[in-house]
Amino acid sequence: MAPAAGADSLPVATDARLGGDESQTRFVMDFTRKIDLHAFTLADPYRVVIDIPQVAFQLPAKAGESGRGLIKAFRFGLVMQGGSRIVFDVTKPVRIDKAFVVDATDGAPARVVLDLAPTDRDTFLRRVANDNSASRPDLPRADGPQSKSSDPRPLIVLDPGHGGIDTGTKGPHGEEEKDIVLNFAQRLRDRLEKSGKYRVLLTRADDTFVPLADRVRIARDAGAALLMSIHADALPHGEGDAQGASIYTLSDTATDSEAARLAEKENRSDVVAGVDLKSEPDDVAGILIDLAERETKSFSVQFAHKLLGEMKGVARLHKTPLKSAGFRVLRAPDVPSVLVELGYVSNREDLQLLLSDNWQERTAGSIAQAIEAYFAAHVAGTRTGTN
Ligand SMILES: [Zn+2]
Repeated sequence: MAPAAGADSLPVATDARLGGDESQTRFVMDFTRKIDLHAFTLADPYRVVIDIPQVAFQLPAKAGESGRGLIKAFRFGLVMQGGSRIVFDVTKPVRIDKAFVVDATDGAPARVVLDLAPTDRDTFLRRVANDNSASRPDLPRADGPQSKSSDPRPLIVLDPGHGGIDTGTKGPHGEEEKDIVLNFAQRLRDRLEKSGKYRVLLTRADDTFVPLADRVRIARDAGAALLMSIHADALPHGEGDAQGASIYTLSDTATDSEAARLAEKENRSDVVAGVDLKSEPDDVAGILIDLAERETKSFSVQFAHKLLGEMKGVARLHKTPLKSAGFRVLRAPDVPSVLVELGYVSNREDLQLLLSDNWQERTAGSIAQAIEAYFAAHVAGTRTGTN
């Protein structure tokens, strides 16, 4: 979890409720003390966002999963150090009628209150444009190292998916993808660092949210020799069962419908976290995949094959373990990039493995082997941290 220091003194969100109907919907969240808020709207899809200082969310299980009136669902969590956020998916264009904070009185807790009313799309979009021209603080851009290191060892960037307000997929007992993949990435980092052969950088080392474009930028700015994004998939309840790990590279057409579905889901991370995609700087936007360096693509595919070879005997693999699709996080034109889905949190055996020390250790070992084989095969001297 986010910073231990001072966590005890954070305001605590203790309850949340929805009231009203399609003509006027009210959201109320209780807090242990009064806080400031900033509310704004985002388009495509229609969302309402409330930014507040960092708080501890101690809400009933399933809070936000179902909606009422104009609100389909809402989620909440950390988006940056010092800042929490509540993101509402709304059913249609809405106007923020009121957004205010009530001080605690007579035994009633402090409250954040949001009133929404329907509006038309044009009015909604004008409002969004207005909000964006006003100087509101947005997510700070995550910082990689300021300058490239003089250390000649190759830099491996490990990218644990999701984080903070974006939990990723969830297991049957509340197990969250963001925790599983962070834990695994840290284990893999320790393993790689211990070998002494690589430098390793994580795109996030705690439970904060990092936008997709920033993940790519961190790897590029730091001069990464390899980016590996780490995830764990799930099939929606009632949509069959699937198991095993899969390895993905970038392509503009997905190898099959499952790969397309997965890329679309992983690419929604920014939408989930209430990032305004239009204002999100994207260093590689507009670079068509087929124009990206051929060499990068070929290195990515070669690394994927090494992974497949090493993981085969160790981790359970999906029946078609090697696929490609349009993942935004794999779009660096100059950093070979692979995304690994470690398994399905929706599958009982996979989840057991994902949570087991022994499986994590063996799988991290096989990935470390693949990295070693990859660098031994081609890259010596051509792709190091100084390129
Ligand atoms: Zn994911």
